[in-house]
Amino acid sequence: MDKIMPNRMDRGFYRYQREFEEKALEVLRSGWYVLGKELKAFEQEFASYMNSKYCVGLASGLDALWIAFRVLGIGKGDEVIVQGNTYIASVMGITMNGAVPVFVEPDEYNNIDVSRIEEKITEKTKAILVVHLYGQASNMASIMEITEKYGLRLVEDCAQSHGACFNGKVTGTFGDVGCFSFYPSKNLGAFGDAGAIVTNDEKIAEDVRIFRNYGSEKRYYNKVVGTNSRLDELQAGLLRVRLTHLRELTEEKEGICRRYLENINNEKIELPKIRSGATHIWHQFVIHCKERDALVKYLDENGIGTIIHYPIPPHLSEAYRYLGYKEGDFPITEQYAKEVLSLPLYNGMTVEEENYIIETINRF
Ligand SMILES: *Cc1c(COP(=O)(O)O)cnc(C)c1O
Repeated sequence: MDKIMPNRMDRGFYRYQREFEEKALEVLRSGWYVLGKELKAFEQEFASYMNSKYCVGLASGLDALWIAFRVLGIGKGDEVIVQGNTYIASVMGITMNGAVPVFVEPDEYNNIDVSRIEEKITEKTKAILVVHLYGQASNMASIMEITEKYGLRLVEDCAQSHGACFNGKVTGTFGDVGCFSFYPSKNLGAFGDAGAIVTNDEKIAEDVRIFRNYGSEKRYYNKVVGTNSRLDELQAGLLRVRLTHLRELTEEKEGICRRYLENINNEKIELPKIRSGATHIWHQFVIHCKERDALVKYLDENGIGTIIHYPIPPHLSEAYRYLGYKEGDFPITEQYAKEVLSLPLYNGMTVEEENYIIETINRF
């Protein structure tokens, strides 16, 4: 068997090759490449999939985050609460506007530990950025109680949680804005960079729509100093194709992860847990292992590639040295960075590949 890679985006392409190629040709031949009918259609279809009134397509997930905070007026001097073990883009979405990230330790589901939020709230706190990490919905019941009690804004980082629900409500629709990435490896992936926000607030949708296009609603009439962050026609068209298959793609990943959960049996390995009330769309299947680095080496020697999401927590990264944190400030976050490991997971994984991964892990 060939080496098993952590992800195989080629398989996601070949399964629907004809549909993707037809759409790509259609867009190329249309002569219209930015802000056209594909984007408009994708925005409607994605809003509908997400049970949301509005969707605005953007150039990336990071843009969705920082533009969300920008239109909410959260910036210099403001504090935003976020979990410590997230991908660094979540934090950059906050700091690009001059706001300050206030980190909270994760819980046993790898999401924000809601029991540790209130102690971090000050007069400067303006918002909570909740990240539905690895594809599992966070504890939204408790988070909504807190945002209501303190009058905070709620932004959701749904870059890994396309379609995950809490108590039947889809992530991205709890707060003021839901921010999505369609980076190729995400559950709803484009063939390049792409992102979007969803919201039920007409004013927020309008402000983002204007902001993404140099601050202009009408060409050459600029209302605000905006940016260029447009989801192009080619990516929008290809995303429309993938979106029609997202349910079956998610179910397939659920099946792979169910078999992982049922068959991986090794006392050195802690399997992911699912919170009651939450669903998991399995962007990643993340285990914890105290001997993680030895496990990585062992799997690699046995032809299985893995990835660590994420080896350096944002508060210890060089980029955020200016915040003044040091090792030991967030012990759980730091412990997770040493323990977590994402097993290979992708649409089109064969039973043979999965059985080999399971057997190899069980022998570790
Ligand atoms: C991928 C990701 C982002 C950033 O999305 P890009 O499209 O790569 O800019 C933000 N937050 C999380 C949690 C992500 O996984």
